[in-house]
Amino acid sequence: MYNLEEELINAIKKRTVKRVLLQFPNGLRKYAFKLAKKIEEEANVEAIISADPCYGACDLAIEELKHVNADLLIHYGHAKIPNLKFENIIFIEARSKINVEQAVLKAAEIFKNEEKIGLLTTIQHIDFLTKAKTILENIGKKVYIGNPGEKTIYKGQILGCDLTAAKDIADKVEGFIVISGGNFHGLGVQLTTGKKTVVADPFLNEARVLDELVKATIRKRWIQISRFSECKNIGVLLILKSGQLNLKLAEKMKNELEKKKRKSILICVREVTPENLNSFIDVEAFVNTGCPRIPIEDQLKFEKPILNPEEALIGLGVIPWENYGKTLLEKNIWKLF
Ligand code: SF4
Repeated sequence: MYNLEEELINAIKKRTVKRVLLQFPNGLRKYAFKLAKKIEEEANVEAIISADPCYGACDLAIEELKHVNADLLIHYGHAKIPNLKFENIIFIEARSKINVEQAVLKAAEIFKNEEKIGLLTTIQHIDFLTKAKTILENIGKKVYIGNPGEKTIYKGQILGCDLTAAKDIADKVEGFIVISGGNFHGLGVQLTTGKKTVVADPFLNEARVLDELVKATIRKRWIQISRFSECKNIGVLLILKSGQLNLKLAEKMKNELEKKKRKSILICVREVTPENLNSFIDVEAFVNTGCPRIPIEDQLKFEKPILNPEEALIGLGVIPWENYGKTLLEKNIWKLF
């Protein structure tokens, strides 16, 4: 399914290294053992595999690299996040070979009355973006592909935490087609742009309208924001991952909470899980300054409200609720007030 091996072996051979650390997201670990052995044999280096969780290029095993005294980190699956300036890392992007044509045509059918379509995808399907554009143009659509943001490198590429390519063209299009396996990226696009978004899922060969999911998400987040607004003791989560650590944001959040008469403390954590948070019995709610996916997708796993900073500012009355979608993932949120 993925074409990973040869480009990596060649890239390692070009460097002078003795030991490499390999980092895989869960979905690619089935290839890990075989690949590590191939690297050892063909690139003549020792290979160590990291088994810690890894959900994105925001989670580079920088500390582990030092602990195991490796010279090079091989990060599989995700594209480099350009605003993270770490050295001695090779990114091997996972590119799916699954054809997107049927899913894109099904999505286009949903947009049969619209002409101007924004086209977006994740790194997995970026190779098919041009083909998808041609497919849509051949049936009479005018297709827009937005520029990348601070955390993405390809035109049309989006991350759960960087939807710049969507925002870039939102005022030009009548709706978006997002080529991806899950719904989260499309959900973010519809929430932040307010434009109808259809997921073209090449794995299931189907197209999904997200209107109901968007409505349900807004309802659920409203409940959590309301619960949060009643809480007095708030933990602000400072995430110990290379691309999520944001002390400045966490401190600003803490100050804002205290200005609004809440007691607040910073809590640093690597993995935001119920196991790590539920035992803080006197903390009534959390603000997560790391991955925005956790509050939105995983809230039900947690006993207490866990909010993104923008949501917390709504709960504190700093941002009006009406701006919920627009302010979600707004990186200049602190300039809004
Ligand atoms: S912060 Fe979340 S959405 Fe952004 S790259 Fe990391 S895992 Fe993906």
